[in-house]
Amino acid sequence: MLSLKLKEIVEAVDGKILQGNPDQIVNNMTIDSRRVKPGDLFFAIIGENNDGHNFIPEAVDNGARVVITSRSIKPYSGLAIILVRDTTQALQDLASFVRKKIENLKVIGITGSAGKTTTKDIIASILGEEKRVLKSKGNYNNEYGLPLSLLELDGNEDIAILEMAMRNRGDISRLAEIASPDVGVITNIGPAHLENLKTIENIASAKAELLAGLNSDGIAVLNYDDEYIREMVNSYGDLEKITVSLKNKDVDYYADQIEYIKNGEESRFRVHEGDNNYILEMDRAGEHNIYNALAAIAVARAMGISWDSIKNGIKDIEVTELRQEIRKIDGIRIINDSYNANPLSMKAGIDSLLNIEGKRKIAVLGAMLELGRIENAAHKEIGKYLYKNGIDVLIGVGSMGEIIAEGAVEAGMAEQNIYVYDNNEDAASFINKIMRSGDAILVKGSRALEMEEIVDLLLEYG
Ligand code: ATP
Ligand code: MG
Repeated sequence: MLSLKLKEIVEAVDGKILQGNPDQIVNNMTIDSRRVKPGDLFFAIIGENNDGHNFIPEAVDNGARVVITSRSIKPYSGLAIILVRDTTQALQDLASFVRKKIENLKVIGITGSAGKTTTKDIIASILGEEKRVLKSKGNYNNEYGLPLSLLELDGNEDIAILEMAMRNRGDISRLAEIASPDVGVITNIGPAHLENLKTIENIASAKAELLAGLNSDGIAVLNYDDEYIREMVNSYGDLEKITVSLKNKDVDYYADQIEYIKNGEESRFRVHEGDNNYILEMDRAGEHNIYNALAAIAVARAMGISWDSIKNGIKDIEVTELRQEIRKIDGIRIINDSYNANPLSMKAGIDSLLNIEGKRKIAVLGAMLELGRIENAAHKEIGKYLYKNGIDVLIGVGSMGEIIAEGAVEAGMAEQNIYVYDNNEDAASFINKIMRSGDAILVKGSRALEMEEIVDLLLEYG
């Protein structure tokens, strides 16, 4: 974090110093009392499950020297106390202050229904060839994660790459307000979080808040093959837009000649920019990742990055864990895609299983959560999709796994190739019995299912 004086912080968060020296310097902050190190600022955040105010004593024990609180608290000697109305708001305000204080910092915001984290990782990998980059950690993408990412800036960065997630209308506007993005990427629009937003049109307009929230000379990077995003291309008049596509040559960045190499684990493709074209190799496969790569390339070119750096940066991407990680045991390839699932990403996961080398393709699938009224239909649809595209064996996990299985049966998949288990452990012990050298296995479901347990168990058995 940037070094800040207490008085700057107080001004940024519109608070009051109850105790402490305005010239005291703060070098680090956290919202987790267990992570407090001597000298830190501790934000007492009131979350869904915990109230950080209850952890102030622990934070102080661990060496906190400053606390931001929305309640009056017991004074500890040597502890500076800043009182604010709302500590979450204060966290966001401080993040926004830090973002603006760093001169010439460019911020890239990424939203979309699937591919945000992966696109962020690809952008970081490419830009890192020429620039000093901060990327949001893991999946830090919400009203807490995004400000925390910005607060990691120490002032030496050229670019911050931030993932922006939403559940409701207004969420992306708020994140954009905090981050003031110069570049906005929308990867795609799909039925995720339908429970809150009801229709896909509502989801599209909620994601489009990123475009409205860009800086005045902002640039939007848009997936022209997504029908909802294509509509945005024609709106937002003044905004500079860069379009990417795999289907339409009449865009800024178009890719073709896609091949999957290295047993389907990596890819080679050609990207067109005006009259020129470039052949790139990337250590990720699947059409969805070519889209993610195109968006990253568009961002990189907008930032003045050379094609040589793009070629280098895209060869070896440091991807956040549990996103299509390929693990191998005894001639068996396991795609661990257990971070999350929605209808778009489930299909992308199945596509990667289809692309990867394997004599038998085994899909181990659990629920896609938060789909609201389309829940049943969406799970059945996945069952149909996997059967029609040639998956050999389906293992459904949990009650939604069962609905996926019903969809596969309805589509005509033979029942002897379909199994349903109640939980991860039972599924893993069954897979362990049937798996053999040459198989390729995909494991995927929503975060709450923690399906990485299955992968861990298989690796243990192996
Ligand atoms: P979350 O909302 O959970 O943060 P995310 O948008 O960050 O998700 P990623 O973590 O990048 O998405 O990818 C999750 C999974 O979605 C991937 O492992 C893959 O199965 C699938 N996926 C990635 N990119 C795309 C894409 N462009 N289109 C569709 N599916 C994708
Ligand atoms: Mg993510």
